[in-house]
Amino acid sequence: MTKASPPVIAPGSTIGILGGGQLGRMAAQAAAQMGYHCHIYCPEADAPAFEVAAYHTVAAYDDLDALDAFAEAVDVVTFEFENIPADSVARLAQKTVVRPSWTVLETAQDRVLEKTFFNKIGAPTAPWRPIDSIEGLREAIADLGTPCILKTRRFGYDGKGQVRINSPAEADAAWKAIAESPSILEGFVSFTREVSVIVARSARGDVSTYDVVENIHTNHILDVTRAPASITEAQAERANAIAHHAAVELKLEGLLAVEMFITHEGQVVVNEMAPRPHNSGHWTMDACITDQFEQFLRAVCNVRLGNSERHSNAEMKNLLGSDIEAWEKALSDPNTKLHLYGKSEPRSGRKMGHTTRVIPRWKNSTH
Ligand code: AMP
Repeated sequence: MTKASPPVIAPGSTIGILGGGQLGRMAAQAAAQMGYHCHIYCPEADAPAFEVAAYHTVAAYDDLDALDAFAEAVDVVTFEFENIPADSVARLAQKTVVRPSWTVLETAQDRVLEKTFFNKIGAPTAPWRPIDSIEGLREAIADLGTPCILKTRRFGYDGKGQVRINSPAEADAAWKAIAESPSILEGFVSFTREVSVIVARSARGDVSTYDVVENIHTNHILDVTRAPASITEAQAERANAIAHHAAVELKLEGLLAVEMFITHEGQVVVNEMAPRPHNSGHWTMDACITDQFEQFLRAVCNVRLGNSERHSNAEMKNLLGSDIEAWEKALSDPNTKLHLYGKSEPRSGRKMGHTTRVIPRWKNSTH
């Protein structure tokens, strides 16, 4: 018996996206370009994605009636962030096509499953231990040494839900700081660079990766991404191979960002992954033949993937909070592209937009 091929979602169909932030907004813009309609589902009434999407639903992620109606209204469901409850994903999957699958989301939601997955496929991570009690934490600190980092297993992002431990005496304070939640303790990786790779895989098995980029964080939030990363060719190949391998092993149907460290010894070590478009891939909008949002939708819809090659070098800078006031200065450089997310309140640390300075490769310029 031959297995039915995974469905192709053709232009003209409606793509349902859970999450209405800037990632959903830019995905909806790419969808419109290819003749798809987007239906955004999110709990916030003034989500940035609404103004560029055909349809939207304002409801909680665990509102089963609203989820049922959403599943009825769309041809495929995907995500622009990964902290969706398991029951909600299961409910949607009973009624429509959900890509990527729950297994992928589940692995990305939980640092223990995530680290276990990467170690199983032979990709090194920081040494780590699961932590469920203060006694366990004390033992793990003795085992891994200091400094080390305690991170909640779930719901961490942009450095939230994590605390650095500099000496064993800080164990109690750290355990309190993360509200005694199930967590992991990670050994401290002494790195020279943080890099990431974005990979797309479609249900038909096509895989495409973007060039390795270098990420600079300030206060745990991404500040600048440089494409390409200034690392050796062997390191770039290794980082790329890890992301490719992860996508295949996860049977990914969508997009995956893998964040990695380059250690002082030159080793590539995985930090974490996100199964969706990623802030460190925004540069692709202005410097690649097919950008991450279009590639994401092509993968989710199971149509042929586009060429992800970089035609220009690029430097992406996030505009946080009042940084948005610099929009006019950004436009004074004709090679800088301005992307604003339509958010009205420039709260401190809030991602309001980004700029990408494009450095065309035909000019042989470097940055
Ligand atoms: P995360 O939320 O896991 O991405 O961590 C946020 C930031 O903390 C990373 O981008 C790194 O700069 C730093 N970090 C996280 N884990 C480690 C580690 N094991 N060793 C050293 N630095 C880390």
